[in-house]
Amino acid sequence: MQSSYFDIGANLTHESFESDIEDVLNNANIAGIKKICITSTSIEDTKRSLEIVKKREDLLITTCGIHPHYADSFDQSSILKLKDFTKNESVKAIGETGLDFNRNFSKKNNQIECFISQLELAKELSLPLFLHQRDSHKEFLNCFEKVTPDVNAVVHCFTEDKKEFYQYLDKGFWIGFTGWICDPVRGKHMQDLLSEMPLDKIMIETDSPYLLPKNLKVKGRRNEPKFIVEVAKKISELQKEDLNVVTKILFSNSLKFFNLQQ
Ligand SMILES: [Zn+2]
Repeated sequence: MQSSYFDIGANLTHESFESDIEDVLNNANIAGIKKICITSTSIEDTKRSLEIVKKREDLLITTCGIHPHYADSFDQSSILKLKDFTKNESVKAIGETGLDFNRNFSKKNNQIECFISQLELAKELSLPLFLHQRDSHKEFLNCFEKVTPDVNAVVHCFTEDKKEFYQYLDKGFWIGFTGWICDPVRGKHMQDLLSEMPLDKIMIETDSPYLLPKNLKVKGRRNEPKFIVEVAKKISELQKEDLNVVTKILFSNSLKFFNLQQ
């Protein structure tokens, strides 16, 4: 039997998918990808995500939220708009939300306000959180402690070290791994960790069209949900566990995370 995969984070509203999104979705489905969560990054972007979801409601779900890069555009009316989006059955999480002090595309104070408001929204609606964190580990955890949303929360595109990994697990977070782990140089610091980590709170994502797994030679370098298979393969290789076993665990983790039916 073919394995089932769940890509918990794909930026399918990206312009690089505009001309062939139907093919991308079909090819993913043929490769065994049974669910894809589109990551939304702003009010406008969430609208686009919902348009794409309509094409394949069997396959797609989405988040709704405001990425820290766009926190400068956030005001209290944004929360009402997000709340309205959550009435749509395909919206299964709040996000991407979080802090990014690496690029600081938005002011730090605005990022914090925007993040805290979305933590409160997730708490109020009991919706899972899709989280982005870069160079802001401490402040990120502070915000969390302030609100204690008490819902499923995933730190996506994890690239930190062992210490942060176990700190997140202690806080009850789930962790999302991308094709970074297939990179022999940039992913090296995660290799030890990947060989021994517990899998019960782990999920996988492509972060398409970004982060094409290094071992793939693809014309144009665009990553797609169908390549999620590579991330699962790498985890099974490092865990020295059968791919089908690993894939099954990752898939059921994701269903549980997003509160979806088995
Ligand atoms: Zn992100």
